[in-house]
Amino acid sequence: MEDGSVRLEKVVMRFGDFTAIDTTTLEIGSGEFFSFLGPSGCGKTTLLNMISGFLVPSEGRVLIGGEPMGGVSVNRRPTAMIFQNLALFPLMTVFENIEFGLEVRGVDRKARREASERLLALVALEGSGPKRISELSGGQKQRVAIARALAVEPRVLLLDEPLSALDLKLRQHMRAELKAIQRKTGITFIYITHDQGEALTMSDRVAVMSAGRIQQVADPVTLYRSPATGFVAAFVGENNRLETTLIERQGERVRLDGCALGELAGRVAATSGLHRGDRAALYIRPEHLRPVDEGESGPTLAATLEAVHFEGAWVVLEARLEASGELLRVQLGHEISRQYTDTLVAGRRMIFGYDPDDAVV
Ligand code: ATP
Repeated sequence: MEDGSVRLEKVVMRFGDFTAIDTTTLEIGSGEFFSFLGPSGCGKTTLLNMISGFLVPSEGRVLIGGEPMGGVSVNRRPTAMIFQNLALFPLMTVFENIEFGLEVRGVDRKARREASERLLALVALEGSGPKRISELSGGQKQRVAIARALAVEPRVLLLDEPLSALDLKLRQHMRAELKAIQRKTGITFIYITHDQGEALTMSDRVAVMSAGRIQQVADPVTLYRSPATGFVAAFVGENNRLETTLIERQGERVRLDGCALGELAGRVAATSGLHRGDRAALYIRPEHLRPVDEGESGPTLAATLEAVHFEGAWVVLEARLEASGELLRVQLGHEISRQYTDTLVAGRRMIFGYDPDDAVV
């Protein structure tokens, strides 16, 4: 397998006075499923366009397979791209779409057909070659776009939110398909999305971006368990943010002033320079809170229920914290919420507990 690693060396992209991208050095491994995750306008497409060659960085350089890409045009790079709108030719057949890039490259008819048959099998569309694109469903078009991109045998496949036009069920199904195709082919996939669910379910590693900068690069579990910044804590999954003050620190464990209602506790990154008396934001995920009895050991939060939302598999509570007046979101799974069915009503006072290992400062 050819080297499909991608290295971004201190890449900066400016449009006039505006700096759209300003990154440190980032290495994406050959055969990795790597995602850039961030809100609209954070610079994901700009970054992808610098890898594909549509944009030339203002500073820094892009290397693919160890080779600098400066001066290498789009169609000479070992990359292929799948766009949000797929950009298929609607009146042409599936075969014609997949074989287009090969024909341009002068591959003969027989070899082209063999390649497209093989790719159609890979994306589970055997026998659909003669159909026109306009006759296909959304999910089938998606697969043709993948097959067409793979036909030119890229070392790196760039995917620009390719699932955003599909309905929820199909999107979830295609996530699994994309991941399976990536594993089978061993090609480096670089995926950009604002959808954290997509990034977390498919990726080996994710770079979380905000305003042109990379906030954290980590595997999905680490991103979820140990967000490096407040932005990552708020953007990846859901989090309650509580304003506190540090009382004591022992290694990664911290005790915090729980705003007059006793102490809170949490976990802090070993490298963080946090000291006694410092203001600190404590992040607790809604799914890590559970109702407890008054006086139970461990950190607790007292709150009054304001709203109860039944969402099928779980119940979401909105509760006003007694100490600070902030709104706390709590997500209870089926098992727990069933015990409280009759008592989960607005106006009720409840105490919530959590495991300090699950709360991040
Ligand atoms: P979305 O998810 O909405 O596509 P994105 O994260 O992909 O957003 P980009 O399209 O990369 O974001 O844009 C990043 C920033 O750079 C935006 O503020 C955008 O307005 C700006 N930008 C992008 N292209 C240009 C350009 N050609 N000229 C000037 N500004 C640009």
